[in-house]
Amino acid sequence: MDKKFVYMFEEGRAEMKALLGGKGANLAEMTQIGLLVPPGFTITTEVCRYYTEHGEFPSGLMDDVRAALAKVEEKMRKQFGDAKNPLLVSVRSGAPISMPGMMDTVLNLGLNDTTVEGLAAITGNRRFAIDSYRRFLQMFGNVVEGIDHSVFEKALEDVKRSRGVKFDTELDTEALEEVVRRFKAILEKEGKLVMDPHEQLEMAIRAVFESWNNPRAKVYREINNISDDIGTAVNVQSMVFGNTGDDSGTGVAFTRNPSTGAKEIYGEFLVNAQGEDVVAGIRTPLPLSEMKGIMPEIFTQLQYVFNVLERRYRDMQDIEFTIEHGTLYLLQTRTGKRTPQAALRIAVDMAKENIITEKEAIMRVTPEILEALLHKRIDPNAEYTPLTKGLNASPGAASGKVVFDTDLAAEIGDREDVILVRPETTPDDIHGLAKSRGVLTVRGGMTSHAAVVARGMGKPCVSGCEDIHIEGDHFTVNGVVVKEGDVITIDGGTGEVIVGEVPMIEPEMSDEFSEILEWSDEVSGIGVRANADTPEDARKAVEFGAQGIGLCRTEHMFMAQDRLPIVQEMIMATTKEERQAALEKILPMQKEDFIGIFREMKGRPVTIRLLDPPLHEFLPDREQLMIDVAVGREKGEDVSSKERMLRVVESLSELNPMLGFRGCRLGIIYPEIYEMQVRAIIEAALHVRETDGLEIRPEIMIPLVGHINELRTLKKRLEAVISDILKEHGAEMSYLFGTMIEIPRAALTADEIATEAEFFSFGTNDLTQTTFGFSRDDAEGKFLQHYVEKGILEQDPFQVLDQQGVGELMKMAIEKGKKVRKDIKLGICGEHGGEPKTIDFCYRIGLSYVSCSPFRVPIARLAAAHATIRNESA
Ligand code: ADP
Ligand code: MG
Ligand code: MG
Repeated sequence: MDKKFVYMFEEGRAEMKALLGGKGANLAEMTQIGLLVPPGFTITTEVCRYYTEHGEFPSGLMDDVRAALAKVEEKMRKQFGDAKNPLLVSVRSGAPISMPGMMDTVLNLGLNDTTVEGLAAITGNRRFAIDSYRRFLQMFGNVVEGIDHSVFEKALEDVKRSRGVKFDTELDTEALEEVVRRFKAILEKEGKLVMDPHEQLEMAIRAVFESWNNPRAKVYREINNISDDIGTAVNVQSMVFGNTGDDSGTGVAFTRNPSTGAKEIYGEFLVNAQGEDVVAGIRTPLPLSEMKGIMPEIFTQLQYVFNVLERRYRDMQDIEFTIEHGTLYLLQTRTGKRTPQAALRIAVDMAKENIITEKEAIMRVTPEILEALLHKRIDPNAEYTPLTKGLNASPGAASGKVVFDTDLAAEIGDREDVILVRPETTPDDIHGLAKSRGVLTVRGGMTSHAAVVARGMGKPCVSGCEDIHIEGDHFTVNGVVVKEGDVITIDGGTGEVIVGEVPMIEPEMSDEFSEILEWSDEVSGIGVRANADTPEDARKAVEFGAQGIGLCRTEHMFMAQDRLPIVQEMIMATTKEERQAALEKILPMQKEDFIGIFREMKGRPVTIRLLDPPLHEFLPDREQLMIDVAVGREKGEDVSSKERMLRVVESLSELNPMLGFRGCRLGIIYPEIYEMQVRAIIEAALHVRETDGLEIRPEIMIPLVGHINELRTLKKRLEAVISDILKEHGAEMSYLFGTMIEIPRAALTADEIATEAEFFSFGTNDLTQTTFGFSRDDAEGKFLQHYVEKGILEQDPFQVLDQQGVGELMKMAIEKGKKVRKDIKLGICGEHGGEPKTIDFCYRIGLSYVSCSPFRVPIARLAAAHATIRNESA
């Protein structure tokens, strides 16, 4: 291996993440743009890969490290290992993809019995020097030598107890010296006390490379789909000290609120502390807003830094900083994790602030983000008394059984709703977090591990809930006992913890929500309609921004309680006259339905499908009828009408209803039904034109056509009816006549069909069934899941459109249809119409619109814009 192993921070750039890791690349970038970063260098991920493969460093690595270290020494005017003025460094892991807290870091490296005295003398602060030394011994012992944290914690506790103090900060120099003595004894006993700084450095670099493969890092990568091959970089950086007194400190900050997305100072800091103190939750940190009163200049500088970083990275940043004697140093920046709510708000705000374009904002809001925002929260009208309150660390509400054990949560979380309740969480808990509905912790702030991870996963989290005392298999709060397995509700938006379940509601759309969708509509090259059968559905559709109705199913208009008896009369009719009489009673009801829908749609296009399902769906169940008849006979009742119905049911019963007497087949055998429906539609449109002044052009759609003659026959007959109606009313009205393409034969002969059809709507549910030869209900119940699990099919074709098969038929139909009718309108109305990948496909094959359920409309609008932007830039 003869590549460059080591890059000084001045040599790198943000774009070099693959080689330098995220932390290294960004430290380099910050150095380049002139922000104050302690000098240092990065050992590349290539070296890590080499090390993982060969178990040793590539030859010459340590020579390069020493050369780089010499440059740092020069800048800092300190010498590594020097007895008088020692340079100390941190050795920090940093992979190309952020894996917060998963790998290891050693601080204060270079200290030993000699250099610690030099540090004490030159700073004139002996307490600080000893404090740094004990921190180093513990981190080195743990990270490099693998000695458990608890061994050190216990020794520290012992000293604190003997001195009668609660916090580390209360230990005086002499007490800290005692801690150092005990820590050294721990290391010595194991033969692991290393006093040579260069040896320390080499061992620490090795340990960081090895931490790439520690179990928690592996689990994290598995959960987040990160390849095991990329490796981590190692950053060696000169130390700055936040633990040198009250004009020093350390903190973490987000350039915007990662919970809400608001543009405000957000973060936490600790006075007189080193970096890991904030995250570890040993002392509870102060909110950054309080820095204004304590360190006003630093506060102003931080605001400036926020701006510089946001303009440079064009995104919200998550920053680590340290203040040493009133000087602000930046130690890390990365794109900040955020809640879905914050992601949306930040994207919209940044576009308005001209940091990014509107199109970029649209692309940053993924369908998953909108999806999460359509999730539940506690009903504001619900009445409940919170048990206690912690920090509102990650929004959303969840109910579930209390589980204390991470492994148990991981095990049962797929089957049951669980809330993980922990003193605090560490990276070792992520497998349980991943399977829980939400997490509740006793300790830790807004930037604690649990909070950060939950926000990333879009799960509710309440942290720092200090009233809770966990004792074995239960916890207590002010005398109330909650046992493992009891149900609680947590509200990560308010921090409240409630015993039992609380009613939840669907969220409404925020301003940003509407804005991003308006921007989406502006760029979108494909329309979005909704599938809606009733005036209420139609209202929802318009509210969610649908541009029309792509599928109005009419079967519900036959199903309603008060109509069913009349519909059954119609089906039972033995003569045409009887049937006509029943239909005449249904007509005004359906007309009323269409009037309601047209009014809600205010002139937007409405595609209405004439009756589709087999007639037996409107009759009672066959078995039930048989029982009724038998029981009635027994009792000597008159069962003749039941018997008649049973005969009809039997005559209508089918071996394979999905392929049976339904759709246009029904319309051809019983033309009166479709004639009545068409009359209801046209008369409703005429009525609404008169009363509301709305110009309506109904789109009448014939289902299940497979042969042109089916369509031809029906069209001829129905057009005659329409022209009669219009004559009766002395009116004119334009309308469209089209068909669903949901039988392969229709796709194959789409050129013929287009001679009669003015529009096609791809009914991809039936088209998938008939193309695969799957009956959906049977497939999903019996073998489809197995197919997907075993990889026989990549996805469930009823959820994500099968582009190679079903999609190919669609393409063919479009091509043939357009040849005959250039301006043919094309849409899709299967459930696939709301699925982002399918929407992308529909855009590419040139559909005019997709249609989906009203609740999917927002996601479809966004996905439609994504499809347009993605494909125009491709
Ligand atoms: P992690 O990826 O777990 O955050 P880091 O490498 O960022 O690990 O370091 C852990 C903590 O140590 C952070 O708070 C960081 O700010 C602090 N730290 C790292 N290097 C230095 C340094 N050179 N001087 C002062 N503090 C440091
Ligand atoms: Mg860090
Ligand atoms: Mg169908």
